[in-house]
Amino acid sequence: MKEDCIFCKIISKSIPSTIVYEDDAVMAFNDINPQAPIHAIVIPKKHIERISDLRPEDSKLISKVISAGNKIAKEKKIADSGYRFIINCNKDAGQAVFHIHMHVIGGRQMGWPPG
Ligand code: 5GP
Ligand code: ZN
Repeated sequence: MKEDCIFCKIISKSIPSTIVYEDDAVMAFNDINPQAPIHAIVIPKKHIERISDLRPEDSKLISKVISAGNKIAKEKKIADSGYRFIINCNKDAGQAVFHIHMHVIGGRQMGWPPG
């Protein structure tokens, strides 16, 4: 828990969110500014700032983040039509919140390459 982290505040529920998945290690909620019909954010409850800070001992945690994303895609019925996981790291990728998060985006045709 980092005092000034917006996603840590969402975990502690001091900032409200629409939770779509939660277990002991991971939480997921709808993005406040959705970029597609389905746009959820999956985070580990452990505060880690960016994907490049991951340590070998965090590998199970990241696998739980991915599993939660797959569950959400299934539940939101975009598993067959398709979906995208995005993890932005640092400035050029547009990372705005420095608590690792994976976007789960779907429900429309997406372009490639991403912008
Ligand atoms: P980034 O650009 O860091 O990969 O993505 C951060 C995401 O978090 C953005 O899509 C943004 O809309 C979302 N976000 C930022 N603040 C909040 C918030 O307070 N609540 C929710 N639900 N989403 C947020
Ligand atoms: Zn945090």
